[in-house]
Amino acid sequence: MTTVEPAATPASSPVPLDPAAAFALLDTWKVPMPRQALADTPGAAAQAATGIGFPVVLKAVASGLAHKSDVGGVRVSLLTADAVADAARAMAAGIPALNGYLVQEMAAPGLELIAGLKRDPAFGPVLMVGLGGVWVEVLRDVALRLAPVTYADATAMLAELRGAPLLSGYRGAPAVDREALVHLLVRLGRLAVADPDILELDLNPIIARSDGVIAVDVRVVRAPFSTGVTARSARDADAVERVLNPRSIVVVGASTSRAKQGGRLFHYLLKHGFAGPLYAVNPRASVVMGRPSFPSISELPGVPDLACIMVPAEVVPGVVEDCGRKGIRSAVVYTSGFAEIGEQGREAQAALVEVARRHGVRLCGPNTAGVVNVGASTCAAFGMAFEVERMPSGGIAFLTQSGALGSSLLSRCWDQGIGFSHWASTGNEADLTLSDYLLYLANDPAARVIAVFMESIKDPQRFIEACERARATGTPIVVYKAGASEVGQRAVQSHTGSLAGDDAVYDAVFRANGVVRVHDLQALVDGAVALAWQPLPRGRRVGVISASGGACGVIADECARQGLQIPLLPAETVARIARIIPPFGVSQNPIDVTMEITVNPGMVGQVSEILLEESCIDALIVLMTTNADPPARVVAEGVVHAARAGGKPVIVARVGAEFLAPAAIAYYRESRIPLFPMPDRAVKALKAMVDVESAHRGVAASRQE
Ligand code: ADP
Ligand code: MG
Repeated sequence: MTTVEPAATPASSPVPLDPAAAFALLDTWKVPMPRQALADTPGAAAQAATGIGFPVVLKAVASGLAHKSDVGGVRVSLLTADAVADAARAMAAGIPALNGYLVQEMAAPGLELIAGLKRDPAFGPVLMVGLGGVWVEVLRDVALRLAPVTYADATAMLAELRGAPLLSGYRGAPAVDREALVHLLVRLGRLAVADPDILELDLNPIIARSDGVIAVDVRVVRAPFSTGVTARSARDADAVERVLNPRSIVVVGASTSRAKQGGRLFHYLLKHGFAGPLYAVNPRASVVMGRPSFPSISELPGVPDLACIMVPAEVVPGVVEDCGRKGIRSAVVYTSGFAEIGEQGREAQAALVEVARRHGVRLCGPNTAGVVNVGASTCAAFGMAFEVERMPSGGIAFLTQSGALGSSLLSRCWDQGIGFSHWASTGNEADLTLSDYLLYLANDPAARVIAVFMESIKDPQRFIEACERARATGTPIVVYKAGASEVGQRAVQSHTGSLAGDDAVYDAVFRANGVVRVHDLQALVDGAVALAWQPLPRGRRVGVISASGGACGVIADECARQGLQIPLLPAETVARIARIIPPFGVSQNPIDVTMEITVNPGMVGQVSEILLEESCIDALIVLMTTNADPPARVVAEGVVHAARAGGKPVIVARVGAEFLAPAAIAYYRESRIPLFPMPDRAVKALKAMVDVESAHRGVAASRQE
């Protein structure tokens, strides 16, 4: 066997390993490959083929050739030494960059799969498996996990593929050796961890048969690579505590006019009842809105926990320095004009961070819309959402990287009686990041659920740490991530590289860490409300009560779409329900109590109780059409009573207009029953709850192995 010289390429850019090195690496990791030999002339190829035994496959070896079959660089089923030599000469003529040949034992036919690794710049190694071999880019049927993976993870990855039934044998084909595949995936995951220089790795295809798997085409791209994760030595919880729960505050740039941002911020702190010492720094005033104002931080009579900084960008570093000299350890920088505006802003931001580090000041922002802690009556934000008379409190902590959109959502939720524990706009995250706030909130009992509007994660390891803490404290995290359509910036050199795009990696990270992802803002809010107000379901089996056969059909369709089940009830339960509802109703799940509810509204509560007692039901959806007060209020009382006794989640959808049933709606809200105007929103909210339950259980199970 002769070795093909590795192609000369610039040392700085990542390059594929030459075949001999790739084979040696994969062999160490027990990746099954066909008998194979490299050759540099047609004669040597023919000789190698004779040694391997016919039939053989001949492949062109050429630097930078990613798809050999596209250029006639793969010839299968060669039966003689002459055929090999002829094919080799033809390849040499057709492929100018050719610098050798690979001769392989021809594998018996089987199911073609791809397995691969990619090192994500943020999250580190990602493992992929997919169906299709040469068709993989067409089918895009792949499953991803962060490496390493457990046997259970690898098994689940295979089960996730749309083409999973093919693995079990389809139309008479034998089932493939899943166990061999699972073991191979686990080994690849370990390889990724052990060899941090691997940037991309493709086994494409792996031919899977009932008697094992074999990788007939391998590609490995190596580069010295750092994930850019910077471990911080200091704990950040105290810094976040001072931002989200300060005992005393100074507003630097507090204006006497509410028409200015700095004035509005000061006004909101006062208006929403901040109880601790509150100072203004404004050299042109001695009093701001009735509070003492000082010309500079150094002249403050005390050392506040938090400085709220609302001054022009060029002045910010000096103010942060003053904070440090005074002993103020945390600051919220609202000022824009930093990294979000481009190169010049990035430099300004780096300089700001440098000043802050040097003087021991931790930063929220810059370019943040502020932070709110409702329980502590602290509204350190300037968005006009805070014109609200009183901020309703509740169990949802809401983190957002975009301040403006975040606070507009807040106000919309308040309109519907939904309250929050905290709201933080993390801004540019020059210092404190989303992960820091998450970690803090996971430990705060006031935050029953954390909703996140996310653009990107800056510090993946801390994010994962925060998710772990949230699971440990039973705090669900629901995320809407913008930018799902974005594609990775780095040019990719493998199938795995192109298929494991940024968004797919986020999916894998969320899944591995029990984070529930939703795909629209409405579902973020709806899911958070349901999680904050109702107990978690133990499974996905839904009982449905409606007064309309058509509505029952809508719920059934949406449940099917979301993977929720509407199980049949046992005969005795059906009989109990039949005794309550009119004879023309439907007493089997989904239950139709009919428009009789206008004269007998109490039956909804009675049927709810029966359903919630039923062991095959995990959650209840009540779907009302146009019922109006006062019967609507009687329905609400019955449902609330049943929900309190049942210990299972109950969600109500009311399609009829709100003006018809203000008393009923108010009662649902004060009783913390999630109420939606459309049936699909009720089902999606329940789906988020089911996902949280199974994510927390699933992560716990895979950690136990
Ligand atoms: P490329 O991906 O560069 O086009 P491959 O080495 O993957 O080239 O070969 C293309 C296809 O040829 C494979 O998907 C597979 O169907 C078939 N093939 C390649 N090598 C073998 C082999 N040793 N035994 C059987 N089939 C093979
Ligand atoms: Mg290939």
